[in-house]
Amino acid sequence: MIYRNLGPTGLKVSALSYGAWVTFGNQIGDPVAEKLLHTAYDAGVNFFDNAEGYAKGQAEIVMGDILKRSGWKRSSYIISSKVFFGSEAGLPNQIGLSRKHVVEACNAALKRFQTDHIDLYFCHRPDPETPIGETARAMHDLIIQGKVLYWGTSEWSGEQLRIAIDFCTKHNLHCPVVEQPQYNIFHRERFEKDLAPIFKSPGLGTTIWSPLASGLLTGKYNNGIPKDSRLNVAGLEWLKDRLTGEGSAPRLAAVAQLAAVAKELDVSLPKLGIAWCLKNTNVSTVILGASKVEQLSENLKALEIVDRLTPQVMAKIETITKAVID
Ligand code: NDP
Repeated sequence: MIYRNLGPTGLKVSALSYGAWVTFGNQIGDPVAEKLLHTAYDAGVNFFDNAEGYAKGQAEIVMGDILKRSGWKRSSYIISSKVFFGSEAGLPNQIGLSRKHVVEACNAALKRFQTDHIDLYFCHRPDPETPIGETARAMHDLIIQGKVLYWGTSEWSGEQLRIAIDFCTKHNLHCPVVEQPQYNIFHRERFEKDLAPIFKSPGLGTTIWSPLASGLLTGKYNNGIPKDSRLNVAGLEWLKDRLTGEGSAPRLAAVAQLAAVAKELDVSLPKLGIAWCLKNTNVSTVILGASKVEQLSENLKALEIVDRLTPQVMAKIETITKAVID
């Protein structure tokens, strides 16, 4: 494993990390979740990603139990939670980024994780109904109380982040230091263009999500949808439609061409997709998702092939995908 600094902070995060969306408390049983977390940790992964909204809080409960049983030192790993979508019924103050919900959601996540601090606490989406200053002050206060170590955002635009950073700087508050955007071969605009000025100054860590576009970049949907796939998980019909429904043919065709590139390099398609993300030095960590130990073991080897993605290989990937990226 290699470790990268999380943007402008001194925190070292493993270049590959592991997240709980769809899987923990939902798609997979708890014993599989335990095996997956151990597989990741044993490979040097030190960051585990979670959110209040994953399986309505159950993902944090499952992860918290596993971490407690593991006996691993708290200083050896980093955990995150995210606030916005809520873990309860969705009453007006059980979602969003108001001071009330940010603080109550943090306290609830600490209980679920059975810990006294969350290392990275993300605003899971921007909340147009709450002034940025209110959220920023709530995050700052949680940091001062020692409940949160660093705060960040997920899927915020460059402009929204810049406003938050300027507000915090002006009022001497802890700034957001990390953003969690989607980033993969097919989805690049936000990461490569919109956030680029902030990477330059003042600096920003990134924990990128869906490096394999929810499995699309593994080629697993090129011949129909496997039965045990996330696309058959209840509630994810929208994702199934997006990845395999109307308009999906050009991307599926590009995946077939990427498979040929992977074959030429003698690497698997999942490793190629993850290594492509790792090539970008503005990526602090690639959050892996996996519902099976074999998938995770395979994906954890992506670091070994990063050097094989020469400029010529990267150019080939560009040619194949340029008409289908967003
Ligand atoms: P991926 O894009 O890597 O998708 C993971 C899924 O792809 C797996 O569950 C599996 O699907 C399939 N897969 C992975 N590896 C393989 C392989 N080697 N062979 C075959 N299939 C494979 O990542 P996620 O979408 O899960 O995102 C990673 C993490 O990012 C999440 O767990 C979460 O922590 C975070 N995230 C954050 C978001 C945010 O808004 N901030 C949004 C989404 C994710 P299957 O189960 O069908 O086999």
